[in-house]
Amino acid sequence: MTTTADITAKYQQYVMPTYHPPSLALVKGKGTRVWDSNHKVYLDFVGGIACQNVGHCHPKVVAAIQEQAAKLVHVSNLYYNEHQGALAEKLSNLSLGGKAFFCNSGAEANEALIKLARLWGSDLGKYEVVSMKNSFHGRTLATLAATGQTKYQDGFEPMPDGFFYAELNNMDSFKGVVSDRTAAILVEAIQGEGGVIPATPEFMQAVRALCDKKNILLFCDEVQCGMGRTGNWFGFQGTGVTPDAFSMAKSLGSGYPVGGIVTGPKLADVLQPGKHASTFGGSPLASAAALATIRVIEEEGLVERAADIGTEFQEALGDFVEAYEHVKEIRGRGLMIGMVFDQPAKPFAKILAENGLLAIPAGENVLRLLPPLNVKNSELDEALEIMDDALAEWHGVEKPSDEE
Ligand SMILES: *Cc1c(COP(=O)(O)O)cnc(C)c1O
Repeated sequence: MTTTADITAKYQQYVMPTYHPPSLALVKGKGTRVWDSNHKVYLDFVGGIACQNVGHCHPKVVAAIQEQAAKLVHVSNLYYNEHQGALAEKLSNLSLGGKAFFCNSGAEANEALIKLARLWGSDLGKYEVVSMKNSFHGRTLATLAATGQTKYQDGFEPMPDGFFYAELNNMDSFKGVVSDRTAAILVEAIQGEGGVIPATPEFMQAVRALCDKKNILLFCDEVQCGMGRTGNWFGFQGTGVTPDAFSMAKSLGSGYPVGGIVTGPKLADVLQPGKHASTFGGSPLASAAALATIRVIEEEGLVERAADIGTEFQEALGDFVEAYEHVKEIRGRGLMIGMVFDQPAKPFAKILAENGLLAIPAGENVLRLLPPLNVKNSELDEALEIMDDALAEWHGVEKPSDEE
């Protein structure tokens, strides 16, 4: 058996140090739990960063992947495959009623949106994309340019041209940013990496109105907040707007890499043969994984469940705001939850992990909680208990709940 030291040593010698060295190597997962290389078990509220909306190794997703892997893995998009059309149909029916394009990651999906905007706008003299400050859209050059956080761009200049930034929940910030050249406005219905910050319905509706008035496309990045996590299939559905297209990835294939975009009818046929492509996109295996994931979400009623238990869990977490000085606010929608502190969240995440709960920071002072949508009530209670202990430890106090 490979030891933790062996695993760590190989990373240090052979894997580029693009990530801060993790303290754990994970070797197994089931539902809400993962096991590390020392056989310690954790409640996983990271889920591969919002990729495990149906939990680790869901039997139905595993079966679909195993069956398809033994039958046909990949043939390219030079041929039709059995599942891609069915997946596109499903996603279209759940959202905008247009057509889908498939790729392999969130960045690629947003890249496809940006190319779609430019092609649509090419005869209109429109090519600019306005995204939000503090957003996150990926690490390719174009999506990095759309990402409104200079810390990710530093050292990679010059950024591609045509990217401008407004502020989430601030309509005034569009003044002087939107022009006749603006092709699209790109928004996360809930900013994920930026700190779990929901866009208000009023803001989303005002952006939609601005887009309609100026003939601008509205795009939503659903890579993190999609697939039921917020208590709607897609985050924008909770804000009362219909975008012209949106991107997906993360939880779409339960961790099997698959990304894509879905359009409304207006943009369904903009990308004609030769205009965009992906070798692996929507492969038989990727499409089977995504279809199985969607089926599980439907069969287990997980969209409704995310809404219901999300509200309950957020209320329970609200007690920590009363009880602990460093906890300032609980925010989010459904099971996309941020715990806001008065200081960096990273040291707290470390204490949580030692106590058996995995959760990651988002932004500087926010801890992100992303349990699977089929997390058990008992597991949420267990997580609350671990958090209570860890908060007391972090604050250097007795648990207020133990004092009577
Ligand atoms: C993770 C993320 C991306 C990038 O996805 P990758 O699969 O890492 O390329 C883009 N947008 C949002 C909102 C994300 O959370």
